[in-house]
Amino acid sequence: MNICMVGTGYVGLVAGACLSDFGMNVNCVDVEKDKIERLKKGEVPIFEMGLKELIARGVERDRLRFSTDLAEAVDRSLVIFLAVGTPESPDGSADLSAIERVATQIAGCMKEYKIIAIKSTVPVGTATRLKKLIKENQSQPIDFDVVSNPEFLRQGSAVEDFLRPNRVILGCDSERALAIMRDIYRPLYLLETPIVSTTNETAELIKYAANSILALKISFINEVANLCDLCGADINQVAKALGMDKRIGPKFLHPGPGFGGSCFPKDVKSLIHIAEGFDYDFRLAKAIVEVNRRQKQVVVDKSRELLGSFKGKRVCLLGLSFKPNTDDIREAPAVYVAGKLLEEGAVIHAYDPAAMDAARGELPDINYFDDAYSACEGVDLVIIMTEWNEFRDLKFTRLKAIVRTPNIYDTRNIYDGNLIKDLGFNYLSTGRNIRAKAKNPVAGGEGIGVS
Ligand code: NAD
Repeated sequence: MNICMVGTGYVGLVAGACLSDFGMNVNCVDVEKDKIERLKKGEVPIFEMGLKELIARGVERDRLRFSTDLAEAVDRSLVIFLAVGTPESPDGSADLSAIERVATQIAGCMKEYKIIAIKSTVPVGTATRLKKLIKENQSQPIDFDVVSNPEFLRQGSAVEDFLRPNRVILGCDSERALAIMRDIYRPLYLLETPIVSTTNETAELIKYAANSILALKISFINEVANLCDLCGADINQVAKALGMDKRIGPKFLHPGPGFGGSCFPKDVKSLIHIAEGFDYDFRLAKAIVEVNRRQKQVVVDKSRELLGSFKGKRVCLLGLSFKPNTDDIREAPAVYVAGKLLEEGAVIHAYDPAAMDAARGELPDINYFDDAYSACEGVDLVIIMTEWNEFRDLKFTRLKAIVRTPNIYDTRNIYDGNLIKDLGFNYLSTGRNIRAKAKNPVAGGEGIGVS
């Protein structure tokens, strides 16, 4: 089957490459000429494990092509996936201008039956809106269907996630479209992947509800961690024990500097906005946004508390991407922290295994280094912002010899604090710092101990 993927970003490129591996002939289209040229030369513009090999295989088998010519790609394809960005607008709603532009263009070049499958994350009602838009922009009436097929892959494990999803959601009102879409995902039948077939509206809401509940789990555990810092409890043990309850589960209970990335922040805000459109005040979603904003600030506040002031201090950020194994810095906590520290007069050193090219544009005023140790030279505080594997095995005796002041802030709790302290460092983490200023008489009055 010939299919087309419009938008070759994190989702479109991974989905296109994986669908070519499923046996489809995939035409990946993007407006960014440079990106398409690089892809044609065999360069992969994003960092994602296993993607380069998958693309090479697809190209070699002549099942994966790259182009900027949407009209030609539409002409050749039965199914056109839309995977363009739907970024946050200033009012928190999803900006649908790219997807509407593409739908209008597709309408103009449609000559026979097509399926438009929406992979981008879009508000409830978008499929209906696109159907209307396409009808209005067709030069003559031609049959088509719009399927809502939201994507759940995670950056950092995107290929694996696409090839082994927990479920596939297909929202549409056409048996014909449903049968064709099921056919595309047929290789997943072997893995007994559930296919949820539903309406467009339900499919659209499932995606926002899924991202928001994951964001809620993170914000919840971050709040519990903040309380642990105050009351002397250990968040690692709390989270572990919570996760043993099968109704809760162990995933997404890792405290840290707040969630980031291009999805959770914008999708929670978009859910609030969708609810507002129906005069519903989604209070829990609003709390997720507020807790996450505050959690990034917690890193700044705890660092300032440790250093006294940032003026004239050198701070090293290890990790800039919003999570490991990706070069994406969109909404990354490290970007927020770097901005605030710069404002307060700190000199920032930084190292990230993959995200420094992306960061240079966003954070031109920080100093980039080629490895963790050179980044730590002469600094007063090392903050581990992203839990890349290479930061899990730092040589602390070497670090001790090169930093100006031995302060480590392990925002992701990847180390055993007692070991680091024994090596002569001041050590901060998230929800494991017994720095209680307990007001609660049950907790023992003026503090349980400071480390
Ligand atoms: P991205 O910004 O990485 O990629 C979007 C691509 O679309 C870019 O390459 C851009 O040049 C291209 N584009 C924009 N306008 C176009 C047009 N008119 N014609 C052709 N190409 C055009 O975005 P992404 O992270 O891949 O996300 C895409 C969508 O998928 C969003 O709605 C997002 O919320 C959703 N999503 C993202 C993830 C994720 O982990 N990144 C996961 C699931 C769903």
